[in-house]
Amino acid sequence: MTLPVYRTVDEFRGACDAARRHGEFALVPTMGALHEGHLGLVREARRHADSVAVTIFVNPTHFGPGEDLDAYPRDLEGDVAKCEGAGATMVFAPPASAMYPEGESTRVNVDGLTDALCGTSRPVHFQGVATIVAKLFAVAGPCVAVFGRKDYQQFKVIERMARDLLLPVRVIGFPTVREAGGLALSSRNAYLSAEDRQRALAIPRALDRVLAAFAAGERQAGTLARAALDEVSAAGLRVDYVTIAHPESIQPFADTDLVGDRALLALAAFAGTTRLIDNAVLGDDDGAQIAEPTSTGAQRADSSR
Ligand code: AMP
Repeated sequence: MTLPVYRTVDEFRGACDAARRHGEFALVPTMGALHEGHLGLVREARRHADSVAVTIFVNPTHFGPGEDLDAYPRDLEGDVAKCEGAGATMVFAPPASAMYPEGESTRVNVDGLTDALCGTSRPVHFQGVATIVAKLFAVAGPCVAVFGRKDYQQFKVIERMARDLLLPVRVIGFPTVREAGGLALSSRNAYLSAEDRQRALAIPRALDRVLAAFAAGERQAGTLARAALDEVSAAGLRVDYVTIAHPESIQPFADTDLVGDRALLALAAFAGTTRLIDNAVLGDDDGAQIAEPTSTGAQRADSSR
């Protein structure tokens, strides 16, 4: 490994300060098991900055009881090599004790944006996300930070947190990177059996169906949601939620509401025991773009699905 990998807060903070003395500095927080979606964020970060730090930390407070904290895939050595290939200049991979020192008791809550969608199904999740990202921002200092729109609600929560806490961080969203069949890349796709992976393709089909209905003029929230629900249920996926919400406040529309020029379609569904999430911002979609070709085949990043 030639890329520096920092393990302590003090070392990483010093490296961030040093990087800033030589130009723009960007941060890409991840939980590792890196794929082309993460590497897209790194390349985007590199477009904004001379130095890019990737943080790799499976954050225990992200996970609720019974979720996949212990099983979450980990491959630090492989991840560091991928970071280097994508243009990162350093990695921060702290132990849990560095991020949650003995006796810590502070949590960050972002109200409102976390009421619905994943906030309902995973009650402690966004508190864990906001807390760890606030800590990472505190260590990294002034920077550009890049997050995936694949986790759209998370992106909005972090954007709001940085604004509300007056943190010196410019938060940037990056389009979802997908496999050729349309499935959004996710570290959790590694859990899918071949059969479940096939079933999961109903998720991008559902987004396409709703985008097409919206493009054809459909504006009733309930009708838009039902189109996605039908597609996903017909494939045998167990739906957690399909919600049409305001793309900024993340407040769900009632079924009878007419959405305006923009609306968020967000969904979560289980393929087997694996929970997958995806979204599209109806009205924002400006067409698909092909991502960097990789050894795993053609993948594309697009603006809303
Ligand atoms: P994770 O390691 O899953 O916590 O994700 C780290 C970052 O990568 C988050 O900002 C995610 O939104 C982003 N990300 C994960 N999957 C994708 C994807 N398929 N396309 C774009 N960004 C992604």
